[in-house]
Amino acid sequence: MRVRVQVVIETDDGSLAAVHEVVQLDRDAARIDTLGLQLAEAKDLLQQVQAVLIGEHVRACLAQQVACPHCGRARRHKDAATIVLRTLFGTPHLPSPRWHHCPCQPQPRQTFSPLAAALPERTTPELLYLEAKFAGLVSYGLSAQLLAETLPLGRRLHATAVRLHTQATAERLERELGPERPMFIDGCQAEWDELSRPELPLTVGLDGGYVHSSAQTSRKDGWFAVIAGKSQPTEGPAKCFGFVQTYDPKPKRRLFEVLKSQGMQMNQQVTFLTDGGEDVRGLPRSLNPQAEHLLDWFHVTMRLTVMGQYANGLPEAGAAASASSVATIANLADDEDDADDDGERDGDEDPGFVVTRAEAERELERLKWFLWHGNVFRALQVVEDLEDDLAAAGAEQTKLATALREFDGYIRANGAWIPNYGERYRAGETISSAFVESTVNQVVSKRMVKQQQMRWTPRGAHLLVQVRTRVLNDELADDFRRWYPAFTPAPDIQEQAA
Ligand SMILES: [Zn+2]
Repeated sequence: MRVRVQVVIETDDGSLAAVHEVVQLDRDAARIDTLGLQLAEAKDLLQQVQAVLIGEHVRACLAQQVACPHCGRARRHKDAATIVLRTLFGTPHLPSPRWHHCPCQPQPRQTFSPLAAALPERTTPELLYLEAKFAGLVSYGLSAQLLAETLPLGRRLHATAVRLHTQATAERLERELGPERPMFIDGCQAEWDELSRPELPLTVGLDGGYVHSSAQTSRKDGWFAVIAGKSQPTEGPAKCFGFVQTYDPKPKRRLFEVLKSQGMQMNQQVTFLTDGGEDVRGLPRSLNPQAEHLLDWFHVTMRLTVMGQYANGLPEAGAAASASSVATIANLADDEDDADDDGERDGDEDPGFVVTRAEAERELERLKWFLWHGNVFRALQVVEDLEDDLAAAGAEQTKLATALREFDGYIRANGAWIPNYGERYRAGETISSAFVESTVNQVVSKRMVKQQQMRWTPRGAHLLVQVRTRVLNDELADDFRRWYPAFTPAPDIQEQAA
């Protein structure tokens, strides 16, 4: 059996204008590997049809324009250049004529190129979209391979081209972002009182992940931070966002636009949960009058858990293990004269003094309990006491002692944002943003860290994060539709299955 595929061109009144033979397929026995179109045939077919379609379309449009709109005379042909069009189904080289302007009207220039003027961009939106969408999910190289394997691109697609196109898409999104402002709070209390009853609270989690720097000159400067976050309304889908603080001139505007797109009102409660990093805790203040910033309980417990693991390294039992608490042990260990003076303790005076694992664990539990109830003062006392006891036991070089010193600084720096977690928890309010931890993984780590050879510039990482978050939020197709009204992406595999 022989099958011939033709493209038939008709004029607007339905008469035959042209017939193009595109492919010829020969088939004999019907087997599973001979039935239907093979990928290579399908790619060839699509590429041929695309070439005919674009060639005829361009020819028809040019024919319509050749006559001068004022006097009707045909413009004179000067010469032709070539336009290379990059599409999903081939890379046609189109002759682009240059015409003389009609002398019936004064013109600033003698000639013009109508096709070049009609096509300021030479890559179709669908190709740009698929490049950005895949690059948002997997590496530039893998994206190029995927597209080249499944589509008749008609040219080699390099990872670099995918990267440059994806970055151009991100830059376009960036240009749409309004200017940065020190403050995004509009109006005053009286106006906010006039607003309709707001939606339920928004919870925003912010955290940072680290990526390898391409400008690495030493082990120390080998990494830089990418901030990732998620905004979660009480009802409805969450949205993730991200940026590279050292590159991004508009982090507040960026976050503000995410919250606004979720319907944030100035009288709405917004709770920001962060890991307490200096780079993120300043953001909330300028975004909403009702914003509250809390140290994320999840991050507090993570640090406590790590210290609990370090406590495993302490001795099981010591000379004073029978005492009921570390405080008592400490007092027993002191000389009688200055038993009440904690500051004078010195491990050298009693070489038998140890802090056991059980004692340290008990103190860490107390520490957790004080923090859970927002009692920063007592929590810091526990930290200091345990530090002193470890020093007295000659264990100030242990991992636990080091971690305690860091934790002390962490709690002091974030004391103002430590609420009574227990009370909030019982009231059903948010205290933890465990979802942020997964957001960092989703936005940053999965795409940018898992492969060790990946190196990033701050700009490259920032732009990719913009595209990746649009893909994860399922917004990228809307962006392309805004830029190109006729853009209609193929439905998602998930949508088709649904
Ligand atoms: Zn004319």
